[in-house]
Amino acid sequence: TIAITGATGQLGRLVIEQLLARGVDPSTIVAGGRNEDVLARLAGQGVRTARVDYADASTLDAAFAGADRVLLISGSEAGRRTVQHKAVIDAARKVGASLVYTSAPKATTTSLVLAPEHKATEGLLEGLGLTYTVLRNNWYTENYDDAIRQAATTGSVLTGAGTGRIASAPRRDYAEAAAVVLLSDGYTGEILELGGDEPWTFDELAATVSEVTGTPVTVNAVSVDEHVAALTAAGLDDASARFVAALDANIAEGALAGGDTTLSSIIGRPTTPLKQYVGELLGR
Ligand code: NDP
Repeated sequence: TIAITGATGQLGRLVIEQLLARGVDPSTIVAGGRNEDVLARLAGQGVRTARVDYADASTLDAAFAGADRVLLISGSEAGRRTVQHKAVIDAARKVGASLVYTSAPKATTTSLVLAPEHKATEGLLEGLGLTYTVLRNNWYTENYDDAIRQAATTGSVLTGAGTGRIASAPRRDYAEAAAVVLLSDGYTGEILELGGDEPWTFDELAATVSEVTGTPVTVNAVSVDEHVAALTAAGLDDASARFVAALDANIAEGALAGGDTTLSSIIGRPTTPLKQYVGELLGR
């Protein structure tokens, strides 16, 4: 049995689709999350569902009973995740399940501002006698949906990422890799850096949108301070604006540059090219 936390989220739902597409018996999948509506929809696909709240260990124990694999999809509540992930790891250990964890690029050595909780979680996994695999997922291309739409409609796209490369891939590519890893014994103990085959810069993103739409797109490259000002002017609070600007500064320094093809080798096909993604998003 494969138990999945965060199964009600966007990545989790795609992982379940991928497992089912690979012929996994739905009764051997336990989808865990809090959102009752999404759990009901997942139950409609034939999988077992369990209400999982990271703050309530009994829900984890119930969800993991009989599981031999657990996919811990990292939580979405920044600042609380290390404790939440520890609860999941403890529950997986109790039933002797092996664990797959979705982490961040180069989590243990990067300066990426959101990496500390991933680093802490990877640290928790060490030395417990538990078998595990780490999927260090690079950015989702979906993170740029708004930027791509804005580029297409206004002919301009703002970034603080400078000429930093982003090895993004759509969620579906990472979901496929998670499914492959969950169904194989071949990745035990591995820390896999996963990202798109062709890391791109914002200049290349603009050129791609331009190619797809047939209209010119320019990049409005801003400094960290200008970025914070633009984000707060758009309605973001100061702390969030600073966080987003810091992430772009990380990207400018190369934190998401990727550069290996582990993801495409796991899924057995090239990752979804940026041009294809942009075309699908814009319906062209
Ligand atoms: P979503 O926000 O769509 O899903 C988050 C999932 O985590 C949901 O299933 C949610 O359950 C679950 N969750 C959050 N908090 C709790 C909790 N306290 N107890 C139980 N379940 C909880 O994120 P995605 O699917 O898009 O991405 C998955 C993860 O990847 C994110 O959570 C984040 O850690 C990371 N991420 C990565 C990005 C990248 O570019 N690589 C970008 C953004 C996030 P519920 O439905 O009950 O709320």
